[in-house]
Amino acid sequence: MAVQKKLIAGNWKMNMLHVDAAALTRDVVAGAEVAPCDLLLCPPSTLISWVAETASGSQVAVGGQDCHEAESGAFTGDISAAMVRDAGASHVILGHSERRHGLGETDVRVRAKTEAAHGAGLVAIVCIGETEEQRDAGETLGVLSRQLDGSLPAGDEGFAVNGSDTVIAYEPVWAIGTGRTPTKDEVQAAHAHISAHLTASLGEAATDIRILYGGSMKPENAPELLSIENVDGGLIGGASLSADSFLAIAAAAPA
Ligand code: PEP
Repeated sequence: MAVQKKLIAGNWKMNMLHVDAAALTRDVVAGAEVAPCDLLLCPPSTLISWVAETASGSQVAVGGQDCHEAESGAFTGDISAAMVRDAGASHVILGHSERRHGLGETDVRVRAKTEAAHGAGLVAIVCIGETEEQRDAGETLGVLSRQLDGSLPAGDEGFAVNGSDTVIAYEPVWAIGTGRTPTKDEVQAAHAHISAHLTASLGEAATDIRILYGGSMKPENAPELLSIENVDGGLIGGASLSADSFLAIAAAAPA
């Protein structure tokens, strides 16, 4: 990815009420003016509208954390891609490991959701990553290929995605929320593999698709992680709940 700035995205997960989000959002919006990268906040659905209004006119984009693949219907508790968009989001996280492994979400379902997100005009942030068992068994790169093949929309001639509608997030499951991170070489190998896999299908156009690293990124390790080749930004969980740590990570992104 040669042209775009890095993207630092915060996944708030199931945290934050309005009262907590107010200062965090305002501080991130203020800090975004000097950030060397693009910023994205992904609050819970209840806060998308509010964060989008608060961030309106700033450098900060807003995303959802999931959407249903259907346009509408009897899906109690779910929200559609159009609803996420209607609430003011431009992005949506899909296939997060907490949904794949906690809620049994399959590649087939992630692909359907990605298609729905694209149909609603959202940028899909498609998460992939191996479990610790898969890594220990030497299966990491195969798992990543399989998840890309299964989760990304496909046309007659390969993946039907581009850099304007899709971001990939490489998130080793065992690194999420654990404080553990892969080595620099392991991150480099995973990102190089993802990049090569996309390029095999899309050619030169694959270089426009950002590949984020996610999993226990924090201000201390961000400079190293964000300097690795083919790491085009970060998806940040825990450290995105404080403006100081989120903006410190953003400040570490090479321009
Ligand atoms: C995540 O949930 O996407 C994530 C990367 O979490 P954390 O940064 O807390 O590991």
